[in-house]
Amino acid sequence: MNWKQKDHDFIWHPFSPLQGVNKPLVVERASGVYLYTECGKKIIDAVSSWWVNLHGHANPYIAEKVSEQLYNLEHVIYAGFTHKPSIELAERLLKILPENQSKIFYSDNGSTAVEVAIKLALQYWYNKGTPKSKIIAIGAYHGDTFGAMSVGERSIFTKPFFRFLFDVEFIPFPQGTHDQEVITLFNSICQNGDVAAFIFEPLVQGAAGMRMYSKATLNKLLDICKSHEIVSIADEVMTGFGRTGPLFATEALSTHPDLICLSKGLTGGTMALGVTSCSKRVVDVFQSDDLELAFLHGHSYTANPLACTASNASLDLLLTDETESNIKRIEKMHQAFAKKISSHAKVSEVRYLGTILAIDIKSDGDTSYLSEMRNQIYPFFISRNILLRPLGNLIYILPPYIISSDELTEVYDAVDDFLDSLN
Ligand code: PMP
Repeated sequence: MNWKQKDHDFIWHPFSPLQGVNKPLVVERASGVYLYTECGKKIIDAVSSWWVNLHGHANPYIAEKVSEQLYNLEHVIYAGFTHKPSIELAERLLKILPENQSKIFYSDNGSTAVEVAIKLALQYWYNKGTPKSKIIAIGAYHGDTFGAMSVGERSIFTKPFFRFLFDVEFIPFPQGTHDQEVITLFNSICQNGDVAAFIFEPLVQGAAGMRMYSKATLNKLLDICKSHEIVSIADEVMTGFGRTGPLFATEALSTHPDLICLSKGLTGGTMALGVTSCSKRVVDVFQSDDLELAFLHGHSYTANPLACTASNASLDLLLTDETESNIKRIEKMHQAFAKKISSHAKVSEVRYLGTILAIDIKSDGDTSYLSEMRNQIYPFFISRNILLRPLGNLIYILPPYIISSDELTEVYDAVDDFLDSLN
């Protein structure tokens, strides 16, 4: 059976043109950091399959828990009914999230977690009887649904929809040199009484290019929000669950956000689930028996019991000393490798935070997502049996936490060879 041909005939893949691209590799099974393809390749997943995988593929502990759950309760309507895996998960998340968080709202994925946060922030002001309409953002990627696209950077991804996206006040990215100007601008926008919310990815913007920025600056922006009662929304879809070192990037902040969006690593990369956690301040405004003041939003698979069970199992693994020391080990290795390659003639910048390492490759041409470099980088690493999916001319390594030092060194060696191949 020609699976590749059937895939080509029947399937429309995300972020991919329908013509002119290589047929996707058919993955038959996966284990640990490895993807095994039907053509006999064994590929290191150095990007955790779009940053979701924490504990390795087909993790037996998670698989067993989900399998047990599957025979017990696979799904149930989540209005008028509830279930223990979702209650356990909510209680556990609230224990590890910043202390101002007080309730969990479930949805399906990262985009819906963001969508829920935006709607909650807007309805917060509606419920208070003083509707506000402006949202401030730093121009990152927040997902592909309309609200998430609207608060995201205007780019090739959203170009066909520009005129359908609602207006958002974008502030420049605080890259370090002009942060005070960004803070002053932010403050002046917030003086306008119509600002409802501020959305940001804490400390690292993922798909926008693994751009990292200062905790002190973010704290100042959040302090300004607090003084104007603006609802702050941390999109921790990528940064959550240890990616930046601590369990959550917002943990390191002195002022905590009102709403936190989670997905990706939430289930350890097993299945889709979204969470929007809410501070008491937000929840209080919805405390009413008036249906008009309720949050009338939901999805058929809200809080799917299998996904909640996978999340509880993933938390069991995440909260062990072993995972903590793996995260620290990767962090140290990234640091050492960054130091080693930072002076390479073909590297323009190296950044790292927690388990994220980002390397900007010097390029004479386009350095955006459309950079031709992509067509060089991706096949080079696949030929070395390593999955690294660049963002334009940016190579990033974001591995599952169980990657061994030898496996990570194999990835670094391939990066070394790639850089040398450019000379
Ligand atoms: N927010 C951020 C920061 C993300 O990185 C992503 C996905 N890359 C999303 C939201 C959207 O998540 P999903 O793909 O699960 O819809």
